[in-house]
Amino acid sequence: MDLQAKLTILADAAKYDASCASSGSKRKREKDGLGNTTGIGICHSYTPDGRCVSLLKILLTNYCVYDCTYCVNRVSSDIPRARFTPEEVVSLTVEFYKRNYIEGLFLSSGVIQSPDYTMEQLIAVAKTLRSEQKFGGYIHLKMAPGASKDLVAEAGKWADRLSANIELPRQVDLDQLAPAKSHVEIQSTMSNIHERIEEAREEKQKFASAGQSTQMIVGATDASDAMILEKSSSLYKSYRMRRVYYSAFSPIPRRDSRLPLIAAPLAREHRLYEADWLLRFYGYTVGELTTPEEPNLSLENDPKLSWALRNRSFFPVDVNLAPEEALLRVPGLGVRSVRKIIKIRRFHKFRLEDLGRLRAAVVRLKFFVITSDSNPSVWRLDSQSLPQLVKSPSPQLSLFQTGEL
Ligand code: SF4
Repeated sequence: MDLQAKLTILADAAKYDASCASSGSKRKREKDGLGNTTGIGICHSYTPDGRCVSLLKILLTNYCVYDCTYCVNRVSSDIPRARFTPEEVVSLTVEFYKRNYIEGLFLSSGVIQSPDYTMEQLIAVAKTLRSEQKFGGYIHLKMAPGASKDLVAEAGKWADRLSANIELPRQVDLDQLAPAKSHVEIQSTMSNIHERIEEAREEKQKFASAGQSTQMIVGATDASDAMILEKSSSLYKSYRMRRVYYSAFSPIPRRDSRLPLIAAPLAREHRLYEADWLLRFYGYTVGELTTPEEPNLSLENDPKLSWALRNRSFFPVDVNLAPEEALLRVPGLGVRSVRKIIKIRRFHKFRLEDLGRLRAAVVRLKFFVITSDSNPSVWRLDSQSLPQLVKSPSPQLSLFQTGEL
């Protein structure tokens, strides 16, 4: 099989992995080296015709000894198979970089022979790129769960980011759809990465400077959003994950009967990203974003607005007096706006129009705040029609506004 044919198969096979943003990495180019990371992650997928790529996102091979039902590369799948040699991946990466197609490499693989053997192949690519080609671009290596601690230590020497996919939120979900996998094994790999990152930080050594991330499939089992967010929250705490990526389940060819017939809504994936953001940067807990009666996030309203509508007694919040943590709970006020408010209000009393100048969503937040010229009357906060008045923008519209919920 020629290189182009392999590339077509192995770039397409990699598209199911969402965990490839290259944010947070800074690596200086060596003298006579190639490429720099920009610090702002924009990777995403490679298109087979070679256009418009910032990250070459491929699998080393789509052969896999495992049989995860949701995966197109599983051993029982009858798709065309291909496999690159490490040298071919090195050569492709360098060639694409020189042609300005890419800024880096996202390299994953089906499990060949064993997790250790697979990792040795992936590491060979990264090591050759760095030490022989002096490649300074971004490298993200996917870890095969169960790989030895030594190989984790080796992988992080060459890669900017490492990731091991948690796949599904509960062990029962794995038992149902990927019985050869276990959270214990996957999390042991995460723990090894985390430990090594911490050691390297103390020793002031370079090791996976963009940290680790993971990916969870959403909607392949009946696990609720509450369960998904509980898992994410515990991974963030235990292993200082940089990101948990959510991937809405989509049916694959020749579907296994244990899988749903239809794709999970992309809006659900989007709401999970918003909730994840609230957990990490706004001080919410999973128990606040979901309830025993409503374990799934609303698809209609974003999770911050949903919380506000369930907790109307918390409002109105006085923009000129309230502490930061209360301001962060106001729908339409994001982290950046809150920081600015706290700085400016020492010298200037905020009116509604001042909030507009901060680019805060005044149309929505006016129902929840007191300013020097506005105090929402009680009937508004009590009103049955409040949810209509402050309705969330559609997920598509708000997709790129996650930073300012
Ligand atoms: S181990 Fe990874 S590549 Fe292999 S079948 Fe499972 S999800 Fe797919």
